[in-house]
Parts: sequence; structure tokens; C-alpha cells
Amino acid sequence: MAAFKVLLLPGDGIGPEVMAQARNVIAWLEKAGVAKFELDEDLVGGGAYEAHGKAISEAAMDKALAADAVLFGAVGGPKWDKVPYDVRPEAGLLRLRKDLVLFANLRPAICYPALADASSLKRELVDGLDIVIVRELTGGVYFGEPKTITDLGNGQKRAVDTQVYDTYEIERIARVAFELARTRRNKVTSMEKRNVMKTGVLWNEVVTQVHAREYKDVELEHQLADAGGMQLVRNPKQFDVIVTDNLFGDMLSDVAAMLTGSLGMLPSASLGEVDAKTKKRRALYEPVHGSAPDIAGKGLANPIAMIGSLSMALRYSFGLSQAADMIEQAISNVLAKGLRTADIAAGAKAVGTGEMGEAIVAELDTLAARA
Ligand code: NAD
Repeated sequence: MAAFKVLLLPGDGIGPEVMAQARNVIAWLEKAGVAKFELDEDLVGGGAYEAHGKAISEAAMDKALAADAVLFGAVGGPKWDKVPYDVRPEAGLLRLRKDLVLFANLRPAICYPALADASSLKRELVDGLDIVIVRELTGGVYFGEPKTITDLGNGQKRAVDTQVYDTYEIERIARVAFELARTRRNKVTSMEKRNVMKTGVLWNEVVTQVHAREYKDVELEHQLADAGGMQLVRNPKQFDVIVTDNLFGDMLSDVAAMLTGSLGMLPSASLGEVDAKTKKRRALYEPVHGSAPDIAGKGLANPIAMIGSLSMALRYSFGLSQAADMIEQAISNVLAKGLRTADIAAGAKAVGTGEMGEAIVAELDTLAARA
């Protein structure tokens, strides 16, 4: 049976609470004979700062670099609001993204039928929605130099951010999007602003070339990012995989998130290059939400985003798509039975983190017995 090395970094606040539920699903997968997992666990964020004086220790970084996948909970909280900037809890996540060269951020927007009424859009627009936004994560205007504020001396200041993309950065993110589309409905929509930005012109050109050279079997369309944003709320089901740069991806993935209801439902994956030696792709999986200090320690957190992130690891790092499908089906069935944590209960009776996690594991048992 295949064995996978997984590093668990539960983090702060509700991180450990939702990670405990992901652990239970991992235990179920082992028991069901799906795969074996070599689990290791370490500190990140505020907890790591307390223990080591920085947001992630070198030993934990080494484990992350050696793992087949990292499962990350959440970091941060009011207790660490005043710690020095370079050791603040979020620095742990940024270090992981940087050292693992996680250049592709995948954010699925899946709308479970039972939750379609929680969306800000009409049910018919979002019911059954299943799209993925692939955002370039390590380049573009968030990192481009120069990045300055200059005093012009006449009572004015000038702020400069620089949007930079090299061909290789666009090629590698385009490949992730095309590969992903091949496992789904085989369509990629690339979004940029080629009408006003040079980086948009190059982005469009390079995506078109990669498609023509390597992925002719996949349908490719281009949309201007502003028009694409409008289409995302007008008719989101027209999309399968959307690929876009860091800035547009940041905004469009938050818009897509609203299509599906609550933060507690949203998983994500960040993928790196395929390692030339091991042939494996570095990867980190995490819920989109933060450490939710307002509900931490109360057993109220929704564990679905965390369990959904584990499911993405099965799909994208371990080649276990069937098991991933089963987990997503179990989540869907549990929701269809009416089980809700407080964030998605809309005033109705809610269950706690543990009950939701246990219900998903019980549903996995039922699905496995039927298979
Ligand atoms: P948040 O995502 O932690 O919480 C926003 C709201 O959503 C809160 O009301 C919270 O209770 C609710 N919520 C979030 N996840 C939930 C879940 N699984 N179930 C039920 N409700 C949930 O964002 P915030 O309040 O802006 O930030 C809190 C802390 O988390 C800050 O320190 C912030 O820096 C940090 N943060 C960390 C990450 C990360 O680790 N990747 C991401 C965002 C924010």
C-alpha cells in the first residue's frame, strides 16, 4: 500500500480543533486500507513563537521540505498582535510558501446543493457549482521591485508598486491550470488586462503558446479580468478552471468564495514545482479561514474547510481521487441530512466541531459499505 509522509501544522486558535477532525479522517483512510500515512506534527505561528521565538523553527521547516504534503491549520491571534513583524505568526506561513516555492494557489469554489440558499446569489446560479481558481502566488505586483514611497519634497509623495512577470512564471502556472482542467471538465479561462497592461499582453501570449504547444486537447478562452469578475457573479457555472495573476487572483478568489457561503467551508492548496529528483510536487493544504479567536476553544468551528483541504491533498499530491470524491460526497451527504455548524446554521440548531467531524467519518463508513 502506498505510504505518504504528511506534516501536520495545526497552528493557533481553531487550527488544532479542526486539524483533530482531519486526523480522524486520516485514521479512517488508513483503517479502510486506502493508504498509509506517516504523520508528523510541529508548531507554527504564535505557538512556535512562544516555544522558539520565531513563527516556524528550522526543524519544522526541514520536516516541511521532506514531506509529501503539509497540512496547515491556521495561525495568529490577539495575543501576538504586538510581536515584532518578522516573527509574527503569519511569517511562518509566508516562510513555508517561499521556501517550498509554492507558486500556484488553488481555490475551489464548490457549492453543495444543501447550502445553495446561503450564497449571496440565486440558488439556480450556484447550485452544484464546482470551479477552481488558480492564482499565481509568488510573483506580480505584490513582490515586484521597485516598491517604494518617495517624498517628492513639495508636500507630495509618490508610491510605486511594480507588476513583473517573466515567461517561466506564466508558463508554470499555465501548466498547473491545464493539467488540472484535464482532470475536470477540460476548460481553462485565462484572465488578465492585456488592453492596458504589458504584463497582460505577455500573460496572454505565453498562455496561448503553452496551450498550442502542450495542451491542444484542453479548451482555452481568454477574458479581461474585469469582465471575468462580472461573469463570475453573472454566470459562474460557465467556468471550470480560471488561471490568473497574483493580484487579480486575490480578488477573484474572494469573490468566488462568496458564491459558496461560509469561510468555514473553503479549502485551498498551494503547489510548487515538481522536484527533479523525487518527481514529487511540493504542496501545502490549508483552509482559507484564519484562527477565528472569537470562537477558539469553544468547539464551535466548522471543520469542513480543513477536511476539504485534506481531500485536496489526496487528489493533487497522493493521486487518490476516488478517496477524495468519497470525502466530498460524505460532506455533501452530511449537509443534505441537515447537519450544520453555527457558521452555516442560519439560526437553526447547530452541532459542534466534533459532532460534524464524527458525522463525516460515519458517512464515510456508510459510503464504503455501499461501494
Ligand atoms: P478568521 O477567518 O479567523 O475569522 C473571520 C470570521 O469567520 C470569524 O467570525 C470567525 O469566527 C469565522 N470563522 C472562520 N473560520 C471559521 C470556521 N472554520 N468555522 C466557523 N466560523 C469560522 O479571520 P480574522 O478574524 O480576520 O482573523 C483572525 C486571526 O487569524 C488573525 O490573527 C489573522 O491574522 C489570522 N488569519 C490567519 C490566516 C491563516 O492562518 N492562513 C488567514 C486569515 C487570518
